[in-house]
Amino acid sequence: MSNAGSVTVRAPGKVNVQLVVGGRRTDGFHELANVFMAVSSYDDITVSPADRLRITVSGPGKERVPTNDSNLAAQAATLLGKHAGVEPGVHIHIDKRLPVAGGMAGGSADAAGALVACDALWGLGTEQHVLMSLAAELGSDVPFNLLGGTALGIGRGESLTRLPCPRTCHWVFAIAGFGLSTPEVYGAHERRRREAGLPFAAADMPTPQPSAALLEALAQGDTAGLAASISNDLEATATALRPELTRTLKAGQAAGALAGMLCGTGATMAFLATDRPEAERIAERLLASEACASAFVADGPVPGPTLA
Ligand code: ATP
Repeated sequence: MSNAGSVTVRAPGKVNVQLVVGGRRTDGFHELANVFMAVSSYDDITVSPADRLRITVSGPGKERVPTNDSNLAAQAATLLGKHAGVEPGVHIHIDKRLPVAGGMAGGSADAAGALVACDALWGLGTEQHVLMSLAAELGSDVPFNLLGGTALGIGRGESLTRLPCPRTCHWVFAIAGFGLSTPEVYGAHERRRREAGLPFAAADMPTPQPSAALLEALAQGDTAGLAASISNDLEATATALRPELTRTLKAGQAAGALAGMLCGTGATMAFLATDRPEAERIAERLLASEACASAFVADGPVPGPTLA
């Protein structure tokens, strides 16, 4: 939407259909094979001219979102302004629906949305490949959040290849009443490997690869095949950190999900359903089970940030 000098962009969150975690690199990041899918749950980012950069936030969890320079949407506006030689005097309002610290890349979605919104507000027409390289400077997940659809991310997740996915997937997301911090989960994952006598440095581990069965199921639109192959290497660590997540996983399976797994670094759990009505029934049963704080349904893949 472009209205009286303001622009609104809808920025989708994501689910990691498969997250294979390799070793830690010397720069501190982990080697990943990350199969991302953008889903139809959105934060709305509205930008309008202002005398200085200002952030406001509405929606659930807003008190856990910073409104200073550390907000990823603010960083995106500053970076694009610097690149284009524009003073980033802009008011960014984030209407949050993606869970905060929920593993659905809410902050990265806001950064990708702010890049697109500020580009439109300032009439820059920045080429997509330039926006993608700015996105990679902002964070590992931001390039995918800008791209949307379905993609394989390697490296720290930022080196992307689009994947065909001809069929709509129906997901249920169970939101925990708490968040899990990404560095905390990776740190605990590494500690668990060390305690088990397993290697944890990238130099001592093979480069992670997505499973051939998963890529085939995605390409064929084979929901049963997808359900059999979705996985997240961080799930065991997250459930060890917060055992109540195991209860959520079991409740989703008991509610009729084809499969369930940790979403990104958590604390959200993602469940795959046969169709939309079944997904809605599973969400209702999950809520009734009191095994999560809230639950909602979303479909994927969907495109990246779009003008509302
Ligand atoms: P990912 O899936 O990329 O690991 P996440 O979805 O688990 O991330 P986010 O919601 O992106 O987590 O937030 C992680 C932390 O980042 C928050 O706790 C908050 O302190 C900070 N943050 C910075 N900018 C934002 C933003 N625009 N929205 C939400 N959190 C933000």
